[in-house]
Amino acid sequence: MQLFDVAFGRNLLQEIPKIANAPILVVAAKDLWPTYAHNFDGGDYILYTPDSLEVVDLEAKISSLPSFNSVVGFGGGVAIDIAKYVAWRTDKPLFQVPTSMSVNAPFAQRAAIRENGILKYVGFKVPEMVYVDYDIIQSAPKFINRSGVGDILCYYTGHWDYRYAVEKGRVESKWPLEENWVSAAREVLDSVLNATSEIHEVSDEGIRTLMSALRWGGAAFNNTGWNPRPIEGSEHTFFYSLEHLTHKPYLHGQVVALGVLLMSYLQGNDPQFIKDKMDAIGVAYQPEDMGITWTDVRAGLKHMGDYWKESGNLWYTIATDTEITDEYLDDVQHWLTS
Ligand SMILES: [Zn+2]
Repeated sequence: MQLFDVAFGRNLLQEIPKIANAPILVVAAKDLWPTYAHNFDGGDYILYTPDSLEVVDLEAKISSLPSFNSVVGFGGGVAIDIAKYVAWRTDKPLFQVPTSMSVNAPFAQRAAIRENGILKYVGFKVPEMVYVDYDIIQSAPKFINRSGVGDILCYYTGHWDYRYAVEKGRVESKWPLEENWVSAAREVLDSVLNATSEIHEVSDEGIRTLMSALRWGGAAFNNTGWNPRPIEGSEHTFFYSLEHLTHKPYLHGQVVALGVLLMSYLQGNDPQFIKDKMDAIGVAYQPEDMGITWTDVRAGLKHMGDYWKESGNLWYTIATDTEITDEYLDDVQHWLTS
């Protein structure tokens, strides 16, 4: 089982020019770097503030860069993924400094990039170290940090779907029920469910808890032998379906959290329990928090079955074989808005 090395602390960024082999390629979020650039004053580095995730743009950039000996990723999601991609393609040592807890990308082997607009996960790069700086994380907006629980809370609905697929005889032969992975994931889920107020506050302990959970989750898809079932279920089908219809960029964890509520309700899987936990954490899961309407949500739910058939690469869950009735839509909307 491979988990990335991580250090928690303060004033970590200023140490990097001393430990990374110069010249350093710093892949940083454009809006954040000016605030933190002084940590690299006098250092021998090249700054790259990416504005495209398209593989052709990344390849062109790599060929035009002056030579460098190490890569540092500094940002929320995009800079982390691109630093990973460049370090993989150029085979240079990588140091990652996430600036929020919105995604598990700093802890995952593969880089999320786009090819002709289509999201793809490619490559394999293990960083020397992931540095989690409390002050940097705490300076990000709280709603962004709290949204990071989405990709952990989805184990709640994902595990129900896994057992459901087994009961229905529809589980893939390559992914028989792997109880060891389900219980390992459940332990990680529980660590987050037991730290709701710390994560709500984004306290040091809240950061350690959620980042440790994301550290497990980021590497899990690799570690399970690419079996997504212990870590993803119907709530992600909802996310993909909604994204397919609306063509909007989302804060991933927010939509996934909404998906967990919608799907746990459909599953009859004690939805109130997981809603109470999300409310304690303060996850912004209402459609208006993500700039969409209930009409969009209802359309996304209705489209799940067709999306599953069209995409051809998603696994069987309650989202793929249940007729989405107006009665369910009215009930779940009423439950989430009353
Ligand atoms: Zn996800």
